[in-house]
Amino acid sequence: MPKVAPVCAICGKVAADPALAAITWARGTENGRDVWTCDRCSREHLRSIEGKLDSAWW
Ligand SMILES: [Zn+2]
Repeated sequence: MPKVAPVCAICGKVAADPALAAITWARGTENGRDVWTCDRCSREHLRSIEGKLDSAWW
């Protein structure tokens, strides 16, 4: 469980509830860092994420 509130890498939204975000948000690892995507963005960008596209387009 994250100690700090995750921040969406796409829209910049800050998770109001880190415990809930740990369940509903998508978590990835990039260059050794955790990258979070909120529930809404993860749905919108699901295809891109699953395609393992480089995140430079963010
Ligand atoms: Zn988002």
